[in-house]
Amino acid sequence: MRSVPRHLVSIADLDATEIVRILDHGDRYWALGHEPIKKLTSLRGRTVINLFFENSTRTRTSFELAAKRLSAEAINISSSGASISKGETLLDTADNLEAMAPDVIVVRHSFGGAAAMLAGHVSCAVINAGDGQHEHPTQALLDAATIRRMKGKPAAGGGSPSLEGLEVAIVGDIAHSRVARSNILCLAKLGVQIRLVAPLTLIPRGIELIGGEVTRERVRVVNRLEDGLEGVDVVMMLRIQHERFEGEAPRFPNTRELSRTFGLSERTLGFAKPDAIVMHPGPINRGVELAPSVADGPRAVILQQVSWGVAIRMAVLERAVIGFDGADKAVAA
Ligand code: ASP
Repeated sequence: MRSVPRHLVSIADLDATEIVRILDHGDRYWALGHEPIKKLTSLRGRTVINLFFENSTRTRTSFELAAKRLSAEAINISSSGASISKGETLLDTADNLEAMAPDVIVVRHSFGGAAAMLAGHVSCAVINAGDGQHEHPTQALLDAATIRRMKGKPAAGGGSPSLEGLEVAIVGDIAHSRVARSNILCLAKLGVQIRLVAPLTLIPRGIELIGGEVTRERVRVVNRLEDGLEGVDVVMMLRIQHERFEGEAPRFPNTRELSRTFGLSERTLGFAKPDAIVMHPGPINRGVELAPSVADGPRAVILQQVSWGVAIRMAVLERAVIGFDGADKAVAA
């Protein structure tokens, strides 16, 4: 048994080389989704527990499919059916699950820090599937994979495509978004220039410093949508996370006002590059942050993101259980 599990708690724990390795391994599995038989055997006999204390459609299904496509057993636990709703602590739940000897626990929780807490407590690998407003690392990795596929520059000498120098606008409720945090860290490490576009009240002060020097150099805060979108290669829209506003003073007059000033329409998309792509982590609130004609339009890659999600989570699960060298051997076998 391995002594150091390969947790994935935060993008902050990965350097650019490790991120590119995950993306390269994800590339391998991208095409598999379109094959009639979608199964590999690298994680045969392994067990993945999906422990979800917050709602999820895409992420939970995606982790489950990823585990099954690698021939692992996937077990899903959601909060409504979990003992935590009967008063059990997160760590007690984890101890009980660990006693059943899983290889990986994938956890989603409303507490920012839940994944780190589990990783420090259990001996199997822990993968963060979203912890409160903190991070959602696999979302950022699948977003980077999508951007790389659509906009990556081929590397001289046939290496991995590069994202260096691309301009990405992340627009909307940055304050409550774990997706934004993970993407800022991930994209900055890959050399992307990032604009955070929202009213001041939806951007935490000092966010450009979350990754130290690397984000300070690459992140710019912009408070007017048209300026934020000017000439960008990628527009990443975020949902207003109403569920995380409880107990806070209002941050904007009303949703209609925010949608009018920071929503993406065909008009405002016109400020981006003519071939800019439009992304969204889902779930979309049609007509709020995204006009339906843009969401369904030719520049939206939102469903490609979902497909990349499975491929990237396969790579992340393999990294956690058998490591990249093990995954390479499994492919060669
Ligand atoms: N699905 C993403 C998350 O879990 C984004 C969202 O919910 O708006 O954070």
